[in-house]
Amino acid sequence: MKVTVRNLVREFGHLRALDGVSFDLAKQEILCVLGPSGSGKGTLLRCLSGLDHPTAGTILFDEQPMTDIHADAWNISVVFDEPRLIDHLAVRENIALGLKKKGWSKEKIDQRVNQIAKEVGLDEMLERFPSTLSAGQKQRVSLARALVRECRLLLLDEALNNLDEMLRKKMIELLLLLREHYGFSCLYVTHSRAEAALLNGRVMILDQGKILQLDSWERLKKAPASARVAAFLED
Ligand code: ADP
Ligand code: MG
Repeated sequence: MKVTVRNLVREFGHLRALDGVSFDLAKQEILCVLGPSGSGKGTLLRCLSGLDHPTAGTILFDEQPMTDIHADAWNISVVFDEPRLIDHLAVRENIALGLKKKGWSKEKIDQRVNQIAKEVGLDEMLERFPSTLSAGQKQRVSLARALVRECRLLLLDEALNNLDEMLRKKMIELLLLLREHYGFSCLYVTHSRAEAALLNGRVMILDQGKILQLDSWERLKKAPASARVAAFLED
């Protein structure tokens, strides 16, 4: 899904968490949103997910105003930094939660869950409960639940925060692979430069609710638009 954002503003009282943000997310693009804590990353993601409402500005999904489309038809999945799993449900049921609204037969649901579990490497763990899983495995359940519905827009909010470096690398490789397979567009929110480097696509540098620069990772490193961007990329 193509996403167009124009002059997005989100105010909380006197605070402008988003201060005139404009960008395009191309179909099947993974756009990294990189910025320090409090820069407005989460607010941007929440506005795109419908969990929060901008004070001003426009969001278009495939050229149509988001607000003109029924929420059921948005087809967006969100993954947060804490995998929000249901403890008393096995991994299989946790993943199937993403399909609840579809009204599919049990057989079709099982088939779909088996397939996605295999892709994220959880096929041996479908009957286990969340409490028996590692942080990385839980995060993969969370990702599988988001992807099982074949969403057209995937929003990740610091989704790999709890994982060690090696697992983060593996998950990003997996994400790039799944994007090829499922063709979703993705907004990848992080404060980690290492993750931006691994994604190696376009990166939006956000600071105090404003885009400082939006460029390929390579160009950002080679030609930062300002001393602030350079400083942020360095330390
Ligand atoms: P980030 O995800 O980049 O760390 P956020 O988007 O969560 O930043 O927050 C941006 C700014 O908006 C912060 O100063 C934060 O305190 C403020 N903020 C976010 N949500 C709310 C809210 N619901 N009420 C008041 N202030 C908020
Ligand atoms: Mg945040």
